[in-house]
Amino acid sequence: MSAASDRVSAMRDHVYELAAAHGVAVEHRRAGGRAWRRSRRISIAPVRSGITYLGALHELGHVVSDGQRGGRRMEREADAWRWALDNAAVELTPATYRNAYRCLCSYLHYAVRARLRGVTRGTIAVPEPDSDAWDVLDLLAQLGEVAMVEHARPPAVPRRAGRAVWWSA
Ligand SMILES: [Zn+2]
Repeated sequence: MSAASDRVSAMRDHVYELAAAHGVAVEHRRAGGRAWRRSRRISIAPVRSGITYLGALHELGHVVSDGQRGGRRMEREADAWRWALDNAAVELTPATYRNAYRCLCSYLHYAVRARLRGVTRGTIAVPEPDSDAWDVLDLLAQLGEVAMVEHARPPAVPRRAGRAVWWSA
């Protein structure tokens, strides 16, 4: 067996070990992932790379991490990535972390666009300036060796400041 296939089977085994240890059922899908906290179930793409490995740990994080209780969507997404990073047992590449960074950024962008359109209900809230979500974004950007866009972290502005001028792109 090659070193690369050893690595992939180590990652796959680790996902199943963790899932079993936490009593989480694993189902498969072609791509992407989902998690059901109450029924302790995840649906993940087959683990064939660092990206699908970290993605699988992310979905497990949604089920088992204490940070998933309460909190808002962006915070829960960030917490699930933090759990994935804390539990990863295989060395990962910057490209893998960049993928996680992009996933988390996509929620942020969605939230910012909604805020700019004045939509506040039924959407993802932009994290408060002191939210842990910013720290996870920072960490993933660092590990991914990309510069986090400077204006991604908003200054501490009053909630009623109106249009979020810190996001002009
Ligand atoms: Zn997620």
